[in-house]
Amino acid sequence: MHIIIVGAGLSGLAAACRLTQLGHKVTVFERRATLSTTGGHIMVRSNVSKIVKQWGLGDDIEAISDVSLSGIYRRAEDGEVLHERLPAKYTEHPDWGTVRDRLLRVFYERAVANQADVSFGVAVTKVQEDEVKAFVKFDSGETVEADLVLATDGALSRLRQFILPDDIAAQARVASMTFHQVAVSEDELLEHPSTKHLTNDANLTVWFGQGSYAVGRYSTKLGRFGGIFAVPSGNEENPKLWEEGFSQTLEDIEVLTILLQQYNDLEYVTNIWEKVRIPRTARVKAFARTNHENYQLGGAQMVKQNANKNDSSTNEPANGQSAAVKPDRDAEFNSPAFNAWLYAYDAAEEVAKATTGLAK
Ligand SMILES: Cc1cc2nc3c(=O)[nH]c(=O)nc-3n(C[C@H](O)[C@H](O)[C@H](O)COP(=O)(O)OP(=O)(O)OC[C@H]3O[C@@H](n4cnc5c(N)ncnc54)[C@H](O)[C@@H]3O)c2cc1C
Repeated sequence: MHIIIVGAGLSGLAAACRLTQLGHKVTVFERRATLSTTGGHIMVRSNVSKIVKQWGLGDDIEAISDVSLSGIYRRAEDGEVLHERLPAKYTEHPDWGTVRDRLLRVFYERAVANQADVSFGVAVTKVQEDEVKAFVKFDSGETVEADLVLATDGALSRLRQFILPDDIAAQARVASMTFHQVAVSEDELLEHPSTKHLTNDANLTVWFGQGSYAVGRYSTKLGRFGGIFAVPSGNEENPKLWEEGFSQTLEDIEVLTILLQQYNDLEYVTNIWEKVRIPRTARVKAFARTNHENYQLGGAQMVKQNANKNDSSTNEPANGQSAAVKPDRDAEFNSPAFNAWLYAYDAAEEVAKATTGLAK
């Protein structure tokens, strides 16, 4: 099958990597002149480390990542720990922290090694389809056809309007915050008594202020602290996005590839794909939004959960008891049942559930 991918970001190149691995002919069009060199910190959650290991990329990504055993939530004012989240309890797959440009390069190099054709400096203006083929159109008016087109043109996608139903296409939202990225070397951290301690902990930490927050972690592999300061932008014209993550797009790609391996009918594949991914994405988006609001309110929800430490429905399970937690999409955010649903995702099981009892 010939598949065109629009956008050589993390999602597009991850898809190129996986789809070429399965023997498809893949062409990627990227409007930038080169591969992005934006180097901010990114978490590769356990739901995704499981997937990339299955793709044979585990060693390459592990080489540029530190394992984060927990997420620690502190009050910025005095550093008091308000909550600790332990994704590692729900799955044997690691929660990795790495850097965007290095991760992007892992996907790029593997996709190119698998014969993906990646063209830079090419902007796609439109996506269309007829009964049998899909097409992408460029500024020049030129059109290229394929069996399938994946629009991975980012969260502020212009192409989704040509692909998704109106009600879903309109759902992309942005937060009116600006995210400032920082990278501080080990030497600089060690120079200051107040930052020295950051070099001792590779776990993810969130610091809550009032109306703003910071997220960061020290990488022992890279010898530097990478963080993001989220502050109200006060400028609705230039909002930054904070919604569906890279983790969800990797899940989506894995679901798609399982479907493509099992079925030839592309209409059936895309229908099941949407049936699996849209409810999950919607819930994860709601979670991200709630987290964002909660972070801005100084971690109010986490303070509440900590106050009920003995309530097993809202707190992490004790060691060795996480297997007993039943994943539940509709459970309260940050509760064990919700965390188990979020972190221990099984794409093959979701496809099996969505196709059970359906003719094909
Ligand atoms: C501050 C911040 C922190 C985050 N942290 C995490 C995290 O820890 N973990 C996580 O899972 N997610 C995180 N995310 C989300 C994650 O960064 C995004 O989900 C991910 O980068 C999206 O990748 P993408 O490839 O879909 O889009 P992008 O990286 O935006 O790539 C889209 C590509 O498409 C190209 N393009 C756009 N339009 C066209 C066109 N018309 N023709 C051709 N090319 C085009 C663009 O130039 C770009 O290269 C974070 C997001 C932010 C803002």
